[in-house]
Amino acid sequence: MKTEVIALAKEAERGAAEGARVLREGGLVAFPTETVYGLGANALNGRAVLGIFAAKGRPADNPLIVHVAHREALAEFACPDERAKALIETFWPGPLTLVLPKKDVVPNEVSAGLPTVGVRMPAHDGALALIRRAGLPVAAPSANTSGRPSPTCAQDVYEDMAGKIPLVLDGGPCLWGVESTVLSLAGEATVLRPGAVTPEEIGRVIGKVLVSPAALAPLKEGETAASPGMKYRHYAPKAEVILADGPTPEARAGVALRLAQNSPGRCRILATEETCGFYGGQDCVIMGSSKRPETLCAALFHCLRQADRDGVARVVLEALPPEALGLAYMNRALRAAGFRVALPTAGEF
Ligand code: AMP
Ligand code: MG
Repeated sequence: MKTEVIALAKEAERGAAEGARVLREGGLVAFPTETVYGLGANALNGRAVLGIFAAKGRPADNPLIVHVAHREALAEFACPDERAKALIETFWPGPLTLVLPKKDVVPNEVSAGLPTVGVRMPAHDGALALIRRAGLPVAAPSANTSGRPSPTCAQDVYEDMAGKIPLVLDGGPCLWGVESTVLSLAGEATVLRPGAVTPEEIGRVIGKVLVSPAALAPLKEGETAASPGMKYRHYAPKAEVILADGPTPEARAGVALRLAQNSPGRCRILATEETCGFYGGQDCVIMGSSKRPETLCAALFHCLRQADRDGVARVVLEALPPEALGLAYMNRALRAAGFRVALPTAGEF
């Protein structure tokens, strides 16, 4: 299959029209959002939705998020309570997915057999134009091959999806670079996956909110995942990834330097403005500032993919305090590293 790429900066109208046509015919379209690129299909067509699982190699028990173009659409697919209504007033359009009891119109292929469905309204003109033009809810996970880092630009999508899907809409780099916050309201409000909308911000609207322990720790043996996505290997490039941790930025930089010096093959440190001075002579890329974790989130997935393109054998990431957007960063960094964390005292890597 030939994969067409339409640049929305030049051809927004044709992009939305072509995308809408493909979606209505049951095909797949990769499209930009403010979080990461999504791989979309008509959410009401179970067969079309199965195409997403095939193109990504996604496990069938990992549900998809339904993307809508207006707030009122939430009640067509899910059963919102007062908390949900207050949250969408505040955060939609935006990077917050609500998991709620689902309505029967949502096929089981979307919810992976769960009684709940995740719904979100993206804050991106290209995504909203596509959904509106198609006149359909769009089921979409991230547009990467399952397990790889999520795509944050059209080139990343093309790398994984060329030949597998007919159309990529190129909207340039994504604003946030990490996937939406997934909040379950199917019981006590619980953040299943941290993202750009933080637990503190959610708490200011609805009061108490829990954060799933799976946000920062691997599932224990025999434990069931509230969010099935959390049990799979995730965000991993081909390179070995190790997270350098320690009590201070200097201590973390010391660990990162040791990991680079001990690396059996070519190593790259994904550093910050604050720490790059520690790494003289090493292959080091400055992702952003640890004072602004959103800059690190925006760069992380693209830098992991670039490391593979450059043939790097080991990637070293620096840990951040898991606060505000640092929580979303650490959730991805720990999974990319397969929970391999190096500390100042231990020299196991
Ligand atoms: P992705 O679009 O690749 O970010 O994947 C969607 C994420 O949302 C996965 O981690 C899913 O496990 C999670 N998700 C989607 N729907 C539900 C649901 N009904 N219950 C719990 N988690 C969900
Ligand atoms: Mg994904």
